[in-house]
Amino acid sequence: MKIRDHVLITGGSRGIGAAAVLAFAQAGYDVAFTYSSHPEAACTVLHEAQRFAPEGKFLSIQADVSQSKEVTRAVSTVLDSFGSLEVLICNAGIAQQKLFTDLTDEDWHHMMAVDLDGAFYSCRAVLPAMIRQKYGRILLISSMWGQTGGSCEVHYSAAKAGLIGLGKALAKEEGPSGITVNCIAPGVIETDMMSGFTDEDKAALAEETPVERLGSAEEVARTMVFLAGRESGYITGQVLGVNGGLVI
Ligand code: NAP
Repeated sequence: MKIRDHVLITGGSRGIGAAAVLAFAQAGYDVAFTYSSHPEAACTVLHEAQRFAPEGKFLSIQADVSQSKEVTRAVSTVLDSFGSLEVLICNAGIAQQKLFTDLTDEDWHHMMAVDLDGAFYSCRAVLPAMIRQKYGRILLISSMWGQTGGSCEVHYSAAKAGLIGLGKALAKEEGPSGITVNCIAPGVIETDMMSGFTDEDKAALAEETPVERLGSAEEVARTMVFLAGRESGYITGQVLGVNGGLVI
């Protein structure tokens, strides 16, 4: 009988996270996901997942990843409901374009709280159960800006680079427990996060990209399913770009 693995995806209500919920549902996983402020979007994703995989179990939980207690509560709910958790995907994130010299303390701390602290809280909350079962897959959704640095996105770049450091160090610490930890570094992906960019901006970005287009949330989601698979156990501590060749 095929083992049915369980995945928790943070920020599954929209964009890349929503595509991931559906991709894991189709791949035969039971899927829990969190959202922050769009319950209607979460509800739509939940129904779509149920339609894709009527035999699957799906769960959506409101939890702000920047709040340690909310993350702990969400992980307990998932463990109580699924019995085990094999895969964690730290995907929830925010972006902001601003000159470095205009950044306020609040801008900086909020970015760190959501994009970096959220992954710390999530990994820490799931690890005791993963260590006990001597198996786990953790994926951290970084960004090409975490690899190269993005002008006018210094706080975002710093948080995303922090995820790469977190992932590499955690991969070393948890490897002996059968747990792999990898980062995915998307390039320019068409989601709400790109809503601040004009069509001209997007066309210019596509032109700069070797494959001459922007990426889709589904393309990132398929990479997640690959890295989360039981057969991907010899890949750990890596940063995999899904960027059409924009960063090589
Ligand atoms: P998106 O469309 O804006 O979706 C963001 C998701 O994160 C939503 O589900 C949102 O929930 C959730 N979220 C935001 N703040 C949260 C919080 N405090 N607590 C819990 N959930 C929260 O973004 P996306 O483009 O799919 O991005 C997903 C990840 O990929 C992010 O980490 C982003 O940095 C990374 N990434 C994106 C791109 C890109 O070009 N799009 C490129 C590189 C990396 P609500 O719906 O409830 O607000």
